[in-house]
Amino acid sequence: MFKKILIANRGEIALRVICAARELGIKTVAVYSQADEHQLHVRFADEVVCIGPPRSAESYLNVPAIISAAEITGCDAIHPGYGFLSESAYLAEVCEACHIRFIGPSPHVIRLMGDKARARRAMKKAGVPILPGSDGPVDSEERGLKVAKELGYPVIIKAANGGGGRGMRIVRTPADLASALRTATREAQAAFGVGDVYIEKYVEGPRHIEFQILGDHHGNVVHLGERECSIQRRHQKLIEEAPSPVFTERQRKKLGGIVVDAAKAVQYTNAGTFEFLMDQQGNTFFIEANTRLQVEHGVTELVTGIDIVKEQIRIAAGEKLSFKQGDIEIRGAAIECRVNAEDPVTFAPSPGVINAYSVPGGPGVRIDTFAHADCTVSPYYDSLVAKIMTHGRDRTEAIARMKRTLDMTVVEGIKTTIPVHKRILEEADFVAGRLSTAFMDRFAVEKPAAGGSSLAAAG
Ligand code: ADP
Repeated sequence: MFKKILIANRGEIALRVICAARELGIKTVAVYSQADEHQLHVRFADEVVCIGPPRSAESYLNVPAIISAAEITGCDAIHPGYGFLSESAYLAEVCEACHIRFIGPSPHVIRLMGDKARARRAMKKAGVPILPGSDGPVDSEERGLKVAKELGYPVIIKAANGGGGRGMRIVRTPADLASALRTATREAQAAFGVGDVYIEKYVEGPRHIEFQILGDHHGNVVHLGERECSIQRRHQKLIEEAPSPVFTERQRKKLGGIVVDAAKAVQYTNAGTFEFLMDQQGNTFFIEANTRLQVEHGVTELVTGIDIVKEQIRIAAGEKLSFKQGDIEIRGAAIECRVNAEDPVTFAPSPGVINAYSVPGGPGVRIDTFAHADCTVSPYYDSLVAKIMTHGRDRTEAIARMKRTLDMTVVEGIKTTIPVHKRILEEADFVAGRLSTAFMDRFAVEKPAAGGSSLAAAG
């Protein structure tokens, strides 16, 4: 087992990794930017290294600074969390070259899944149902028009190297295709450094369903069931739950089995999430795989009792999975509300100092956060402040627990999305489990501004 892990991240996820490492008796090294000196992950790590100025490009995305920090402190592994460098095949490769274990999949798998057009092809080959779409990147207007005509409108143009719900364009008529293609290519180039885009059939009002998997280095892969993340705003998740209120045991077994086989086919190791859209007829189609820990991994932990971060560390250290598919049981239901430092009406970021903070405990409540009274929510990073999770014997109990937890939560000094969550939980459709990615349209107060203002953490 490792002796010391460097955590190449900040905020609640850095603390989450510290929790797992401590329970395993492993020392931790926190890295931090000059803006984060007083953050809790710096306080609770065994050792700390300042890696640069506040801007993430110069600190949390600075591979040389992170590798140097790991070498100076004698770390034998790096956990990248989510966001930042968590899906950087380059960091995984540099780690390999420096004999530091990267806690995540191999550089090869990260690269494959990071190119969504290639990932679609690989999944199709492995027998996973994918959404109809272009076979690879679409680089001309003629080709785009041809693909879209074959698929039938509406279609969606997506950046091959995209993420975080950004850079997608829905096209409803042939007349709009050429300009959408040009804009999407330009945006993809600017945001992700690669201008490749591909076209997919656009599904109206789908559900977002994703499977959590774990794979060790001995050929064992299991799935931990599905999560439903249909409550989104501008393609970014707000509320996630496990299991999906509409998935049957049979569907779980069937799609879970397909995902496990596909993961084995690409030699997937460590934790990963295979994302699907479910159309209104109940068909599920693969959209992408994320080669990292997800923000919403906690709801799966609550219903399975498996500590995914500890498993990631054990797997990276070369241990075999200690359980088989048949040992995994889904117990009750869990929900997560992402509390962001944002205006609850406009969703504009609301950084600042939290001057009063109190959260309730009680049965079935888990809160993953870096927040406390007098802490600063920095304008430099994403706006996720806390993940409030509740677990109940069933979905009704989990919802009741979430409502009373939100009612008893006090966060003052900054604006948060708690009022948004309260409204969602009151909706009859939510209570009945009638979810879709279009759910939030009912609350729209304004035409969304171009470009997107929300800085919510990546999925
Ligand atoms: P990202 O990597 O940017 O998060 P995803 O491919 O995971 O992008 O998609 C994010 C969200 O965008 C989905 O959960 C869904 O709401 C929406 N979306 C993506 N592809 C489609 C599609 N083909 N049809 C309808 N909605 C889509």
